[in-house]
Amino acid sequence: MRSYVALALAGFTTLAGAACSQQTPLQKAVALLNAEQVKAVQVVASGKNFSVGQNYTSTDAWPEVTVKNYTALISFDTNSSRVELVREMGAVMPKGGGAPFFGEQRQVQVVSGDYAWNVPAMPGAPAAPAPDAQPERMLAIWTTPTGFVKAAMANNATSTPNGTSADVSFMVGGKHKVEGTINEAGQVEKVRTWIDQPIVGDMLVETTYSDYKDVGGGVIRPTHLVQTQDGFPSLDLTISAVTVNPAVDITVPDNVKAFQPPPVNVTADKLANGVFYLKGGTHHSLAIEMADHIVVVDTPNNQARAEAVLAKAKEVIPNKPVRYVVTSHHHWDHLGGIRAAIAEGATIVTHESNKAFLERVAMTPHTIRPDKQSEVKNAAKVQTVGDDDKLTDGKRVIELHRLQGYDHTGDMLVVYLPAEGILGEPDAFTPPAMPGAALIPPAVPSAKALADNIKRLKLNVKTIAPFHGNRLTTVAEVEKAANPAVATR
Ligand SMILES: [Zn+2]
Repeated sequence: MRSYVALALAGFTTLAGAACSQQTPLQKAVALLNAEQVKAVQVVASGKNFSVGQNYTSTDAWPEVTVKNYTALISFDTNSSRVELVREMGAVMPKGGGAPFFGEQRQVQVVSGDYAWNVPAMPGAPAAPAPDAQPERMLAIWTTPTGFVKAAMANNATSTPNGTSADVSFMVGGKHKVEGTINEAGQVEKVRTWIDQPIVGDMLVETTYSDYKDVGGGVIRPTHLVQTQDGFPSLDLTISAVTVNPAVDITVPDNVKAFQPPPVNVTADKLANGVFYLKGGTHHSLAIEMADHIVVVDTPNNQARAEAVLAKAKEVIPNKPVRYVVTSHHHWDHLGGIRAAIAEGATIVTHESNKAFLERVAMTPHTIRPDKQSEVKNAAKVQTVGDDDKLTDGKRVIELHRLQGYDHTGDMLVVYLPAEGILGEPDAFTPPAMPGAALIPPAVPSAKALADNIKRLKLNVKTIAPFHGNRLTTVAEVEKAANPAVATR
């Protein structure tokens, strides 16, 4: 990425001589933002961000989280940035998903060249490598107004008049298309780019900049930005201060440089005859043997995880095809490998509210990072479930029940095997590593919803296999967690 910068400076030198009246919108933007002289910026803002992929149903907007403070330090010269967010959450989460937290949460997200990492809250703790976040964070630098203008100059942007504005377009890193609109005042109004997302593929990230003002010392910048991802707002910030050319000292930690992602690991615990609990990562699955096929519940995270889950299911239940993949719910962490399941030829069993979404998912272009489904192009086979349904081969019964009164998601299907007394459930209750430890307040209503639904449905549950955490649990533990006040009496 450093090569942009050298090229950019050469471009600016030529531009500096152009007379005002003949300036194109891009040249005006260079002048307005003083982009030749800007090598780094610090932006202080507040507003909200949104939990992308965690909407209440697959057609709702992303759930909103308050951002009390947002500070971004960006170096265009070194292609690096450090973004610190202080987010705030009360005792009740907004409707939808997202990792539960309570009170203030500080997140520090860094990128430098090819490396991305998070700085943990605990002082002295090692940086947490975040290689999957690198493209998004790198593109965030080149989609700021100044970054956009610099990258446009450095990457032989094409500029097409659009009324009095110009549509400017170029490629970053040879892989990511960036497009934007600059108005006749030289204001960058809108920037679009696309990042790879395992489910929706080449995902549009669009940022709209407005309310250009003198933010101090003659520095003109937009003071409001709204970003959308896959069509819904993902970030909405009001900018209070911009510092030009602050000192930036971002060094890639050695452990981030040395990091190799661990190989995908799927383990299988036998819960009953023909019933396997597939673990080994952050998100668990189930494989259930039927007379002449296999039912898998959840192909999470991404294609690699999903393929490993499908392979493990076929290893522990040999000589049978995976004919059905049940999706517990549509949240992107649990749905991440769904295209691998579609490519496998499995029928996807899901709540009826997800049908249109999954049919779209089967067709989305994945040009940035092609996956198996982009080669085989299977049409999605979707079998929908209402509130209660079952899969059976005449012998084994797999009941599917939608959790009611559950604000985490409107389409959560829990999986109940009546003969075995096994309940598979994602997200509603994750047993704490230390049995008996209290849940944080926003996690209590989810546990309560699960306990209430088990009661409502009169399920005779002996074992709960949660899709997060590292152990099985029981209805008694869920009920205790759901009623913390009673438990301490
Ligand atoms: Zn979820």
